[in-house]
Amino acid sequence: MQAFKLPDHPSLARLRAAAEERILILDGAMGTMIQTLGLSEEDFTGSSGGHSCHLHSDHAQKGNNDLLALTQPDAIEDLHLQFLRAGADIIETNTFSGTTIAQADYGLEEKVHDLNVAGARCARAAADRAEAEDGRPRFVAGAVGPTNRTASISPDVNDPGFRAVTFDDLRVAYGQQIRALIEGGSDLILIETIFDTLNAKAAIFAAFEAFAEAGQRLPLMISGTITDASGRTLSGQTPTAFWHSVAHARPFTVGLNCALGAEAMRPHLTELSGVATSRICAYPNAGLPNAFGEYDEGPDETAAQVARFAAEGLINVTGGCCGTTPEHIRAIADVVKDSAPREVRA
Ligand SMILES: [Zn+2]
Repeated sequence: MQAFKLPDHPSLARLRAAAEERILILDGAMGTMIQTLGLSEEDFTGSSGGHSCHLHSDHAQKGNNDLLALTQPDAIEDLHLQFLRAGADIIETNTFSGTTIAQADYGLEEKVHDLNVAGARCARAAADRAEAEDGRPRFVAGAVGPTNRTASISPDVNDPGFRAVTFDDLRVAYGQQIRALIEGGSDLILIETIFDTLNAKAAIFAAFEAFAEAGQRLPLMISGTITDASGRTLSGQTPTAFWHSVAHARPFTVGLNCALGAEAMRPHLTELSGVATSRICAYPNAGLPNAFGEYDEGPDETAAQVARFAAEGLINVTGGCCGTTPEHIRAIADVVKDSAPREVRA
């Protein structure tokens, strides 16, 4: 494949060196932290502050977290910094919904380029600041979410052949996002919360096209999500099948995130670790959400589960997904600091 003829981004050598030494720490959930800020519609659109943002959209923007990189960049940079100071080596850009497909819900398709560049710059600024403070290398992962559509499953039970999105729609949308994430200073690209592997394959394809344009290959992290107790992704794959579907991308890590919490994730992680020849990354939710959609699992509880992943030699990178705070990340970093990273089989 053409992408493998490109020179590697310099971050790869730094990431590899750090990953040889220890289990690397990924940050926690931005969404939960943003909620605690209690931002209003005016805060989201930036219409009350100094940032004049001509959004050209008549949709309400409250809840459009990705937009905050443009309208509240200082707040986003501060949240990144909290995770970095808690021990994160790698932080994810706040761009989970930064595609034209996901932003269509807010009528902000035209802003996609700007909000991804801004999202990457917020994370870059925080990472550079943290690295200057203590000298430890920090990395910005340009985060690419699954979008809210599935390329391999029909949303209409009466029309199983129907698709709300095609591979090429996704390829184009992901390409636009990834090029902007690279422009904003990302060190690597993280394709995450994959429930439909065909969406992820479109993102991988788009990433390779963007790397070819940039003349450099960035490391890839690829993370699936197991959405039900039977241990399959929404598109019906086991962890083994998922690995074989993405192995061609030769990712820096493959792994699992989100969904049912660390305890439920462990058997699937064990299976993935048994087949994958890349490093493994796992970042579970803080347990299962309660009836109000809130996460009750405390930092020590989540960390105790992650400590088990580490003790069993299953992980190279770990952190937290939904409901995890800087305190969770601090506790996780603390419990894995003396554990050896999983051995990578060539
Ligand atoms: Zn999650």
